[in-house]
Amino acid sequence: MQTNDAMTEPTATIVVTTPDGAAHRVDAGTRALDVLKAAGSLNKLIVAAKVGGRVVDLSRHLVDDCTVAPVAIDSTEGVEVLRHSTAHLMAQAVKRLFPEVQITIGPVIADGFFYDFKRERPFTPEDLERIEAAMREITKADFPIHREEMPKAEAIELFREMGEDYKVEIIEGIPDDRVSLYRQGEFVDLCRGPHVPSTGRIKAFKLTSVAGAYWRGDERNEMLQRIYGTSFPTKEQLEAHLKRLEEAKQRDHRRLGPQLDLFSLHPIAPGSPFFHPKGAVVYNTLVQYMRSLYGRYGYTEVVTPLIYKTDLFKQSGHYDLFRKDMFLMNVDEEEYGVKPMNCPGHCYLFETRKYSYRDLPIRFADFSRLHRFEPSGTLSGLTRVRSMAQDDAHIYCTPEQLDGELDRFIAMTREVYGAFAFEKVEVTLQTRPEKFLGRVELWEAAEAALRRVCEQTGYAVTVLPGEGAFYGPKIGFDFRDVLDRSWTLATVQIDCAMPERFGLKYVTPEGGVATPVMLHRAVLGSIERFIAILIEHTAGSLPLWLAPVQVKVLTLTERQEAFGREVADRIAAAGFRVELDDRNEKLGYKVRAAQLEKVPYMLVVGDKEAANGTVAPRRRSGETAAAVPIDAFIERLQAEAVPGQAQ
Ligand SMILES: [Zn+2]
Ligand SMILES: [Zn+2]
Repeated sequence: MQTNDAMTEPTATIVVTTPDGAAHRVDAGTRALDVLKAAGSLNKLIVAAKVGGRVVDLSRHLVDDCTVAPVAIDSTEGVEVLRHSTAHLMAQAVKRLFPEVQITIGPVIADGFFYDFKRERPFTPEDLERIEAAMREITKADFPIHREEMPKAEAIELFREMGEDYKVEIIEGIPDDRVSLYRQGEFVDLCRGPHVPSTGRIKAFKLTSVAGAYWRGDERNEMLQRIYGTSFPTKEQLEAHLKRLEEAKQRDHRRLGPQLDLFSLHPIAPGSPFFHPKGAVVYNTLVQYMRSLYGRYGYTEVVTPLIYKTDLFKQSGHYDLFRKDMFLMNVDEEEYGVKPMNCPGHCYLFETRKYSYRDLPIRFADFSRLHRFEPSGTLSGLTRVRSMAQDDAHIYCTPEQLDGELDRFIAMTREVYGAFAFEKVEVTLQTRPEKFLGRVELWEAAEAALRRVCEQTGYAVTVLPGEGAFYGPKIGFDFRDVLDRSWTLATVQIDCAMPERFGLKYVTPEGGVATPVMLHRAVLGSIERFIAILIEHTAGSLPLWLAPVQVKVLTLTERQEAFGREVADRIAAAGFRVELDDRNEKLGYKVRAAQLEKVPYMLVVGDKEAANGTVAPRRRSGETAAAVPIDAFIERLQAEAVPGQAQ
């Protein structure tokens, strides 16, 4: 449009509608920003325009009838424009400081952006500081940011002359005849845009980390140097974000887990955690807790095989849709697979006998280990693993029993969340995805049932279209942790495919046969992931009933060794996990050690306690209490070391 020859042709008039409903008659070619100005909706917070629903530069020339709305810097779209503009700003600064570096791509990601550079050495923290300083210089200069369009061949020539081989490669892959570039000062980048109008609009940014990254994400390609950064409309927002990041780092389970001696990971088994003795206590206590509920909620536990002939997964549909995520092997000239989930095995279990409607519902619970072949690049601590177990169960019931089963599951979920004092809960309904199995009518009925039952229990339901599993819609109970991050823990799915694929039947009251409804459900979800979330939510201070060491007895001097041992023995005899620290160290040192281990109770024993047969409890928060007889302390433990008790 910029090249429109306005001298020889009469200018056409177009109608541009602004959000207030006003229709503006303007010459074709008028800039979006001029219309917004005339409409009185341009101010210093506006960084882009939305033309016909698409975010574009404020300077975009309007050629047809359209709608134009302002995009403010503090809107979701505005922040994206800001962050991508900050990525360009960073690339410009890098080129100023390191002219030999080649630029590649710099997209916006959650909470920030990155830019990948071709450079032999990684950037150091000192480099980042220098780059930030150069970025500030460029924002001070307040360069206007211009969009230019040119034929592909011309752009290739331009970037080749600049020695930007990656840009040349990118342009060669673009199917269009023309490409767009953005210039600010001496810097030019291939880009679709849009961008903020000038570099001075970028006020609050921070470069956060560096990492290696392969060109085009392919490990066969050369390694690039990635710089991550973030950018916010205001300094206050940036500060608040950085504070949250720091807190998240302090609470990171990948740091705290090994530090608290709970678990570790080793390249010998990627994505498959080793739980150390203390971690195994947490793991088993969680399993034990779920087991303790099963009697009351009518579940029976089963133990099923880990490895099956792949015929099973062909029948269930996993082989077609999930094969690349499975561990497969050939044994004895037959193909076997390690199960990624329990459901197909449970369907075989269901078929081992004949059920009548009177026997239903059947609820099979299974803590079996599961294996999924997650790509190595996505593995992370306990949250993305290849080996895990769930508090998994499958329910087979009649259609009439469905609502009752969903209610029962929701009641159990409430009880479990209560045990962990998870209060902020949101419910999502995930509906039919693009790739799905089963009949559409079944899907629609199942989605309606899930929605109805959720709404009856008073939860507001957010629908996530297309996010269900391939065999059925799902509701998830999302919990918000102390850092306000949302985690889906409990889920229940109605299976629209498997009962029919496995030919499952039960005898109806009329003596005929019918297909049972099948539910998949878990409350904690993956136990590995649950532990990660709990560690981060509590910053490692696990509730008393879950803490691997619940009590630590600290002797003041060597004289209390025998009494300290007696105290520890009596607490252990009462069924609690206790350790004695009778090292010849100062008390302050021992207290700090126990605090670092996040032990809920410390008992300091000196001469007075030994003489009186008492202990002086001290909580990990630092709160102390008067000395009490040992039995009185044990009674306190018995009252407090139960799920749901505030610590
Ligand atoms: Zn760009
Ligand atoms: Zn399942």
